[in-house]
Amino acid sequence: MPEPLSHDPEQIDWFNTVFILALPAIALASTGWYVLSVGLGWQEVVAAVILWFMTGLGITAGYHRLFSHRTYKAKTGVRWALSFLGAAAAQNSVIAWASDHRRHHSYVDSEKDPYAATRGFWWSHMGWVMRKGYWGTDNYSNVPDLRKDPVLRFQHDYYPLVALAVNLLLVLAAGALTGRWLGMFIIAGILRVVVVQHFTFFINSLAHLWGSQPWSSANTSKDNWALSLLTLGEGYHNYHHSFESDYRNGVRWYAYDPSKWLIWAMSRLGLSHDLKRTPEDIVLRKRFEEGQRTLSERLGGWGEAKAEAWAGKMNQGRDELVSRFEALKDQMSASQLELGESADEFQRRLQEKVSDWKGQLAFQAEDLRLQLLEQIRAAEESLEEALAELKTRRQELRRGGKTADRAQIREMKIALRRARRSARRALRGWEQAVDRYREQFDGLPSPA
Ligand SMILES: [Zn+2]
Ligand SMILES: [Zn+2]
Repeated sequence: MPEPLSHDPEQIDWFNTVFILALPAIALASTGWYVLSVGLGWQEVVAAVILWFMTGLGITAGYHRLFSHRTYKAKTGVRWALSFLGAAAAQNSVIAWASDHRRHHSYVDSEKDPYAATRGFWWSHMGWVMRKGYWGTDNYSNVPDLRKDPVLRFQHDYYPLVALAVNLLLVLAAGALTGRWLGMFIIAGILRVVVVQHFTFFINSLAHLWGSQPWSSANTSKDNWALSLLTLGEGYHNYHHSFESDYRNGVRWYAYDPSKWLIWAMSRLGLSHDLKRTPEDIVLRKRFEEGQRTLSERLGGWGEAKAEAWAGKMNQGRDELVSRFEALKDQMSASQLELGESADEFQRRLQEKVSDWKGQLAFQAEDLRLQLLEQIRAAEESLEEALAELKTRRQELRRGGKTADRAQIREMKIALRRARRSARRALRGWEQAVDRYREQFDGLPSPA
C-alpha cells in the first residue's frame, strides 16, 4: 500500500532546488573562467563527449530500457556497470528513477504523472524535481522487482556515495591520461553532468511538446529525430510510449538510436539476451489505425460548414463561367442564323447548355472528393491484405522454426522479408492517398 504523504506535495524541496539551480551556474562560471584563462583543449572536449556517452547510456540503456521497462535481460556485470554509470549522471538511484518513470507511463499527462507535460515546459523539465510530493513517492511500491535485485538495492542504499565515486573515478582517469586535471574536473566533470541532466530532462519536456505523432495521439508524447541526437536515441518518444516494452526507440535500423545499438551489440557478445521487439505487423497496424482515426475525424467534420466553404471555392469559377457563356452565345447565334432557328428555341438551347455547366461545376467538387476517398479505400484494402500476410508469415516462422530444416527456415525468412517490404509499401501507398485528400481539403476552414 502506498503511504499517504505527510506533507503538502507542492512544498519546495530545497536540497534539490539548490542542487539543480546552482550546478548549472557553477558549471557555466567555471567553464567560462577556464576557457578564457587556461584555454580549452581538444582533450577536454573528447573526454566530455566520451563521458557523456558512458553516463548517458547508463541512463538510457540501463535505468530506462533495462530496469524501468525490462525490454531485455543482461548479465550481472552489465547490470552493475550500467547502474553505476547511470548513477554518475546524477539523476537519483535506479529504484527512485524507475518508480517515477513507471508512474509517468501509467498515468501519462494526468495529475498522477510526476512530470506531466500538460503542466507546461518548465514543470516537466525540472519543476517537478523541486517539489516534495512528485518524485520518489509511493514507497517505491511500483518497482517490487527492482527492490529485490541486490545490485539495485546496493546502488540505492549508497547512491550519493556511488554517484560521487564514479564521477571522481572517471574524471581522475581522464586527468591521469592527459595531465589536464583542472580542465577535466570542470569540463568532463561538472559541465558534463549538467549537460547530460538537461538532455535527459528534454525527454520529459520537449519530447512531449515538439514533434510528430505517427503512432498515437492518445497522449502528448512526440517523435523527434533531432532530440535523439542529444538523448542517445530517446527522441522517438511517441513510438516509445506506444510500445514501451520494445528495446528500440528508433524502430528503423537507420534511426539514430545508439542505446539500441549498444543493447544489440551486447547481445552479440553474449552480455544481453531476450531483446524484446514489437512485431512489425503490429507496429504498422498501429500506425495505420492512428492515421485512420485522424482521417475519420476530418471526414466527420465534413458537414454544412465544409459544404459552404466548397461553395465559396466554386464561386471562383463563376468568372470563367461568364466568359464561357459569352463565347457560347456568339457561337450559337451564328448557328441560329444558319439553322433559321426561332428566338425561343435559341433561348431554350442556351439555357440547357448553361444549366449543364452549372451542374458540372457543382458536382466537380464532390466528384473529386469521392474519387479521392475511393483511392483511400482501395489502398486500405491492399494494406489490410498485406498486414494479414505479414502476420501469417511471422506466425509461420515462429511455429515452424522449431521443426523445419535449414532450407525451410531460409524460405520462411525470405517470405517474411518480402511480406514486410510489401506491407511497408502498402502503408506508404495508403498514407499518400490520404495526403492527396488532405491537399485538396485542408485549405478549407474547419467547421466550428
Ligand atoms: Zn519510458
Ligand atoms: Zn514520456
